[in-house]
Formats: sequence, C-alpha cells, structure tokens
Amino acid sequence: VLETAPKVPGRPRHKTRVVQVGGVGIGGDEPVRVQSMTTTDTYDVEGTIKQILALEEAGCELVRVTVPKPEDAGALSKIKERINIPLICDIHFDYKMALAALDHPVDKIRLNPGNIGTEERFRQVVRKAKDKGLPIRIGVNAGSLEKELIEKYGFPCPPAIVESALRSIEICESEGFRDIIVSLKSSDVLVAVESYRLFAKLADYPTHIGITEAGKPPYAVTKSAAGLAPILLDGIGDTIRISLLGDPVPEIAAAFDILQATQRRVRRPELIACPTCGRLAIDLEKIIAELEVRLNGKRLPVKISVLGCVVNGPGEAREADIGIAAGNGQGMIFRNGEMVRRVKEEEIVDALMVELADWEKTNQHR
Ligand code: SF4
Repeated sequence: VLETAPKVPGRPRHKTRVVQVGGVGIGGDEPVRVQSMTTTDTYDVEGTIKQILALEEAGCELVRVTVPKPEDAGALSKIKERINIPLICDIHFDYKMALAALDHPVDKIRLNPGNIGTEERFRQVVRKAKDKGLPIRIGVNAGSLEKELIEKYGFPCPPAIVESALRSIEICESEGFRDIIVSLKSSDVLVAVESYRLFAKLADYPTHIGITEAGKPPYAVTKSAAGLAPILLDGIGDTIRISLLGDPVPEIAAAFDILQATQRRVRRPELIACPTCGRLAIDLEKIIAELEVRLNGKRLPVKISVLGCVVNGPGEAREADIGIAAGNGQGMIFRNGEMVRRVKEEEIVDALMVELADWEKTNQHR
C-alpha cells in the first residue's frame, strides 16, 4: 500500500521500540495498526471465526478475543488455524487463564494489572510469555486501577494510571522481559489524552490507544476521534481500537478514518468538498456522490478538492494534488497548483479520473 507522510509534517512520531505481534510490527516506524475485539463467546469457534474473517475483510490487522473460561482457552488453537491475522487473548481477573492461553499458538496476551491479583501471579504470566517469546499488553484501565493507587491519588487521574503501567513495566523488566505494549484507557477523553502524553514522556514502549467504553455510534466515533486526535497529532499511538457498542466491524473503518484525518496513515484519496451555499455554481452533491463511487477501493494517498464556486475553489485546488474550482457551469482543473484546463460540468468527474490516472502514473514510485 502506498502511504505518504503529510505535506506539513506534524509532530514527529514518538520514538518507541518495535514489538512483534505474530509477525506484525508495533511501534517504531511501523504504520499505526488497526485492531478490534470479537463480541462472540470465544468457545463458539465457528461464530468467532466468522466474526474475525469479517473483521479481516474490513481491514483489521490484529484481533483480540476474551478468554474468561478454560473452554475459551481450549478453542484458541482451532481459531488460530483458520484466521490470517495475529490473535490476542484478553485476560481479566484469572491469571490461570493467561497461563492456559499461553499453551496455545496465540500471538499476544493482554492483561489488566489492576485486576490480575498478586505480583507473583503476574510474574508467573510474564515468565511463561518470555519462555514462549510472546509479547504482553499491559492494559491499564481507569475503571479498575489498583486500590492503593486510588487511595494514593484520590481518583483515577493520569498520574495514577501511568504509575500503574510503570509498576507493571518494572516487574516485567526485573524478569528481563521487554516485549511490552501499554494502553492507558479511560472513558474520559481528557484523562486518556493526558495519560498517554505523560506516559510518552517517561517510556519508550509502544502504546495501544483507544477511548474505552465510548458507547454507541455515531457519538462514540466522534468521542473517540476527539480523544484520539490529540494523542495521534502528538505523534503518540502505535496501534488503535475504536470501542463501539455492537458489531465490531464498523470499528475498522472508523479507525482508518481517524488515522486518515490526522494524517498518521493516509492510504486513500482525501476528498475535499465545500458545504455549498447560495454561490454554488455546479451540482456539487451529484459530482461528489459519483466521485465517491469511482474512487471506492482506490488506495491512493492523493488529495482531491472539488469546490462549488470561485470564492475558495482556486485556492483549495492549488493546495490539492488535483483540484476543481467551479464557475458558470464549468470546472477549472488544477494539477499541483497550476490550472491545466477547463471542462463542462458534465465532464468534471471523467476529467478528474483522467487526472487521477495520470497522477497515479507519476507518483507510483514515490
Ligand atoms: Fe459557497 Fe463557494 Fe464556499 Fe462552496 S466554495 S461554500 S459554493 S462560497
């Protein structure tokens, strides 16, 4: 996939080590990876595989399944055999489930240090993961912090969340284990943003980012974007999940949209269109609808602007790779800031596709 850096570089990516999860690199200069979690009972092998394959089809790059019971751990090998992306096991409360999951060909374990019990239990999981050469995600959650941290800080504030992560990291490091990914989740956007910022100042482990329990779409997508954009624009975040109530498949498109809008992972055309107003000189809605159909599936990091009149049209068109500024039922076509020709309104979509094919030819080795 052709992916580009933004024209106006934002903050550089926070430097982290790279952790391999089933052959997929997380952190460093690797793309921010998109992941999701199944909603099925994991022991329901057929149902879980069906959902994972639907997630893969949508572009999901890593998938997590819950392992609360021995029968869930027992299903892991069968699931792993028939899927194509790394399989992560989500463990809460019972460290024995982590140990059981590690007996199967899984790719990562996710633990919540706030609810896994004693340090010794955590150490047992770390030692076994180390023996198997598998990474662990330390998944701190504001809703289940260690009791003594709540007593120390009074509430699940960013320093408490980060201290929880650092404590677990210290335990891992004392076992000589550094294949660690960290998440610092909160359903409160401000707490999540500040937690990730604080952690990035103190550690070089890759982070999994998300706004937990965001609720039901569409608000959940907007809330996730509001929380994840500042983190991503700060250069933080190496893998992402958008937590939506219900079917997980729409999480994937939402995650890629947030990465696209923040220019952390641009991999499809960015279509810029004005909201239209009384100055509109062409049927912009019709043109954009047609363009969306024609651009569907094109994985090209190209910026195309289509504006409805000459007020901002030429300016936006000059900033885009390909642009149209409309006026009097015509479209002025721009390439890389230069006007190249005028076409009639009904020829605008075809003309844009011709320019796009040419752009693709000249940029394929970029
Ligand atoms: Fe209105 Fe022209 Fe602006 Fe579109 S570009 S919103 S038509 S002024």
